[in-house]
Amino acid sequence: MELVTALVNLQEESSCPICLEYLKDPVTINCGHNFCRSCLNVSWKDLDDTFPCPVCRFCFPYKSFRRNPQLRNLTKIDKPLARLTKTKRGCKLPILGRRLGHYRPSRH
Ligand SMILES: [Zn+2]
Ligand SMILES: [Zn+2]
Repeated sequence: MELVTALVNLQEESSCPICLEYLKDPVTINCGHNFCRSCLNVSWKDLDDTFPCPVCRFCFPYKSFRRNPQLRNLTKIDKPLARLTKTKRGCKLPILGRRLGHYRPSRH
């Protein structure tokens, strides 16, 4: 139970609020929000004097973000875990039909 909560928190922390995917090349801006670098670039693309945070709308006077290698490592660890949690527990293996004796040559 605690592990599940920790996993959920981990997933929320490691996902991008713009594309809702796992952070790619994560960056942190000064308000503390994390984004993919490319997503942040896109959301700030047509701006030239103020750069609002896409989440909290805090405006920055210049493009400022820092790379977040720690979070990057986190997303790397997180991916297989997320896949694991998505797998249904106790799901049955597909029952293979006994057709192995029937050999069909592959078509060209
Ligand atoms: Zn993103
Ligand atoms: Zn923010």
